[in-house]
Amino acid sequence: MKETIQTAAESFLPALWAMSRAMYDHPELGLEEVNSSRMLREWLAEQGFKVEENFHGLPTAFRAVYGSGRPVLGFLCEYDALPEVGHGCGHDLIGVVSAGAAAVLRQTVDAVGGTLIVYGTPDEEITCTKVQLTDEGAFDELDVALMLHPYQKTCGRMGSIGIYPVQYEFFGKKCHANEAGPGSDCINALDAAVAAYLSVNQVKQYLDANIYGILNSGGTLPNIIPDYASLRYYIRCDQEWKTRRAVERINRCVQGAADSMGAELKITQYLCPTQPLLLNEPLLDAYETNMAALGEPVVVEEANRLSTDAGNVSFRIPTLHGMLGIHGCGGVDLHTEEFAARTVTEEGREATRLGVCALAGVGYDLLTRPELLEAVRADFQRGIREQDEKGVSSSCY
Ligand SMILES: [Zn+2]
Ligand SMILES: [Zn+2]
Repeated sequence: MKETIQTAAESFLPALWAMSRAMYDHPELGLEEVNSSRMLREWLAEQGFKVEENFHGLPTAFRAVYGSGRPVLGFLCEYDALPEVGHGCGHDLIGVVSAGAAAVLRQTVDAVGGTLIVYGTPDEEITCTKVQLTDEGAFDELDVALMLHPYQKTCGRMGSIGIYPVQYEFFGKKCHANEAGPGSDCINALDAAVAAYLSVNQVKQYLDANIYGILNSGGTLPNIIPDYASLRYYIRCDQEWKTRRAVERINRCVQGAADSMGAELKITQYLCPTQPLLLNEPLLDAYETNMAALGEPVVVEEANRLSTDAGNVSFRIPTLHGMLGIHGCGGVDLHTEEFAARTVTEEGREATRLGVCALAGVGYDLLTRPELLEAVRADFQRGIREQDEKGVSSSCY
């Protein structure tokens, strides 16, 4: 049966290559992916998918469905480009691989049942719409979410770095600097922010997290004691539980500093937070097995420097975010024009072929082997439990 997957994939390749070439030639920034989204929607409609536009109020998002009943497999498409470097993150391959794999699986679904849903998820790079979509429950209809991301090599077990952006605002009481002596009731918000900044610097050496911040606002004139100051931080961790611990500890530092000065504190997230990927072992095994069967070596990658909004999906639904190697890309970094150019070479087209076949292969396994789906669910629950046990619960998080 898997041979028919390959045959079907081959028949789609010219159309898929043409779409990624068009995306490469006319890269569209996040939330402006009008043509990229339209191409994928129209192609999926031609393949018999029922397409819903403007998904969750996002003009370049979509949802395309084929089949009915369980299991429900989700295929995540990205197609946003970067300023200056175009498709330097290789998203011109992500959407076509996901759409192609889903289309390949129609015949399997016709035979054994199940539902295929392709999601267009715009602007991974800047506004991270998968965070919004996840929070709004867009993927809750799924048993599994699947996608592949172009990279220098093919590897499955590669996590990602979560980014937790947090802003601390300090509210004090303004006065003329000449009035700020003993007995004054003015409250210097800048002093509270500086005390917080120093306290965070003291504590961060004990946390397994990358924590850097800026003084974002600290007054206007030296002779006005500021009644407002703010700090902005990124807290980056490769595990969700580390983020939770770090956030809880940093919040306490900042609250202590605000209290010591008598300032009011407001904690907000000024950007959407992306979580580190929660890896799912049975899904990764299935990806590696399918790639190996196609003759593509799967390597172990020690580096873990990427961030992706698929991390948030992975904490809601069992998710595969496999790395899809473009041969000859060793030493070519993501987010460069050179990487973008590699996506439309012969090697880029071959990566697309392997990606469609491997992702469809994983989907085929999930549709035809209920015990695999059970193992995926069990591993997901184990992973969530582990993060909960290691992280501390924090009302601030
Ligand atoms: Zn990127
Ligand atoms: Zn990317």
